[in-house]
Amino acid sequence: MHHAVAPRIAGRNFLFVPGPTNVPDRVQRAMMVPMEDHRSSRFPELTARLRAGLGELFKTRSAQIVTFPSSGTGAWEAALTNTLSTGDLVLAPRFGQFSHLWIEMARKLGFEVQVLDCEWGEGAPIERIEQALRTDTQHRIKAVLACHNETATGVTSDVAAIRSAIDVARHPALLFVDGVSSIGCIDFRMDEWRVDLAVCGSQKGLMLPPGLGILAASPRAMTAASTATSRRCYFDLTEMVKANATGYFPYTPPLSLLYGLRESLDMLFEEGLDAVFARHRHLAQGVRAAVAEGWKLTLCAKGPQWYSDTVSAVVVPEGIDAARVIDVAFRRYDLALGAGLSKVGGRVFRIGHLGDLNELMLMGAIAGAEMAMLDVGIHVTPGSGVAAASNYWRGQRRFGKQKGGNDQPLVEMRSKAYPGVRQQASPTLVQ
Ligand code: PLP
Repeated sequence: MHHAVAPRIAGRNFLFVPGPTNVPDRVQRAMMVPMEDHRSSRFPELTARLRAGLGELFKTRSAQIVTFPSSGTGAWEAALTNTLSTGDLVLAPRFGQFSHLWIEMARKLGFEVQVLDCEWGEGAPIERIEQALRTDTQHRIKAVLACHNETATGVTSDVAAIRSAIDVARHPALLFVDGVSSIGCIDFRMDEWRVDLAVCGSQKGLMLPPGLGILAASPRAMTAASTATSRRCYFDLTEMVKANATGYFPYTPPLSLLYGLRESLDMLFEEGLDAVFARHRHLAQGVRAAVAEGWKLTLCAKGPQWYSDTVSAVVVPEGIDAARVIDVAFRRYDLALGAGLSKVGGRVFRIGHLGDLNELMLMGAIAGAEMAMLDVGIHVTPGSGVAAASNYWRGQRRFGKQKGGNDQPLVEMRSKAYPGVRQQASPTLVQ
């Protein structure tokens, strides 16, 4: 006897939320491991390899990188509680739901936050950051919190410019960066930008299920951790670093995810980090062509300097509820688009274009979004988004160059930390 169950939906679900992202088969298989003794003499081989790979991914030689069994939010908490003391002041621009949530967390944990409110759709306000730091002559501000890629609005901020603003203001504040939806997709340079704490999660650029909160801490952040008095226990960075140094964890690590991480790092380095970033740029440009040239709609991001290569928040016409587009896409076409969050709820739907993706996969999302928009009464020209993306991507192949101010060469950066890994031919897009 069969129980009453929902009818089977044939075919693949098109997962285009900006995380969790599609987990490649290779990573899925790598996670199917029997459990083992995480205190065995062989276990440190895995830990050492992950640390080397994460160091290369974050572009750091000096930071300590740890993985907590948590989502990105746990790594946010670890960043704050390990380096600050109750009542400490931090400076944070707010321009979307994720910058907002980090600020709210800091307040709940007992820190004071000087908020620089910006319009949602703008990026971190460099001059205002500099000004706020200059005004703080007593150096009360202990850290600047910056969300590299605001996933709610599809906005990428210039972390190097934030670093310069801190330097120009001659302020000793630490720089904390949320790289949850940028690291592994958009270039991130921990050492070069002198980022003190970088936060990441497993379920976006790293192509893994949710469950790993990754935190990289500079030597300055580690020094701050030695004197900061906020309470922490499970997320104690110093304890984790101490255990990791011997190849172990202070508690049972999420073994399957760690094996998945080993595989996903291998995949990123086989493709080459520069090629991964160029692919994300290339795919994002196609989506932006679909939105602007095809559908004649606008992005939530207010200017090209802020366009995100990992997520596009598409503004729907007045009088339409974007949540309906998302629901129709999901129910009729088995396509998951990202919701508009908080202030932009009902105003935008989001297309995540990050992780293990190619042009034709993204075409499914563009076509599905277009069909759902037509179904709810948005007057886009049928096929226009697909045509615009196709023209853009085909043009890139034919002419072998990037339009629209994109001068990033489509070349591969060979892995140094993974010399043993088999390298594939350079994935140049020029035919
Ligand atoms: N920061 C950013 C930029 C995010 O996009 C997210 C989640 O989407 C988070 C933080 C929170 O991470 P998590 O949901 O993994 O806790």
